Amino acid sequence: MARNTGAACRMCRRENLKLFLKGDRCYSEKCAFDRRSYPPGQHGQRRTKISDYGLQLREKQKVKRIYGLTEKQFHLTFEKADSQKGVTGTNLLVLLERRLDNIVFRLGFANCRTQARQLVRHGHFTVNGHTVDIPSALVRVGDKVTVKEKSRGKAVISESLDAAVRRGVPQWLTLDKDQFSGVVKAYPEREELTMPMQEQLIVELYSK
Ligand code: SF4
Repeated sequence: MARNTGAACRMCRRENLKLFLKGDRCYSEKCAFDRRSYPPGQHGQRRTKISDYGLQLREKQKVKRIYGLTEKQFHLTFEKADSQKGVTGTNLLVLLERRLDNIVFRLGFANCRTQARQLVRHGHFTVNGHTVDIPSALVRVGDKVTVKEKSRGKAVISESLDAAVRRGVPQWLTLDKDQFSGVVKAYPEREELTMPMQEQLIVELYSK
């Protein structure tokens, strides 16, 4: 199945959670979830009983949508997480956080992951001095992500950066705003990922 390009706000309402897919709008009073926090559609306000499988499926859909992956990409990431040592669910979230598009978003060079993915694809960033235009590229501890000099004048980057500095950058990253660069100090600990995600349900779903 291809990436879902439908209305982003419907996804938040479907998952019953703000997924922060639209940048500044998500922090404003225009946020659709804040105004209508029930599922979309004609029967959205009906109470429905959800099965264990349904819960697992919704959790997988939610995490997939937060990071903006296709079904295939998400499953491949899960398989990689499953083949690593440690707790599969935590491995999965760390792998998702290590994606270059996510790091660009977390550092504040873009105001949502969709925008980050597009900026990466257009070749606006280097990793350790080399252009990387693959959003799914995994960064490692010590890697330095920098906005190319010719791209630093782009309003979309500087405006995002200002907003991100106001909101704060995660502890496991360091941002040098003046140099338009950031370094991965460490991989995130599970407790540093504050979005409500029950990764164990995803492990259970894929273990069936
Ligand atoms: Fe979700 Fe609100 Fe952002 Fe729309 S504006 S994507 S409903 S958080």
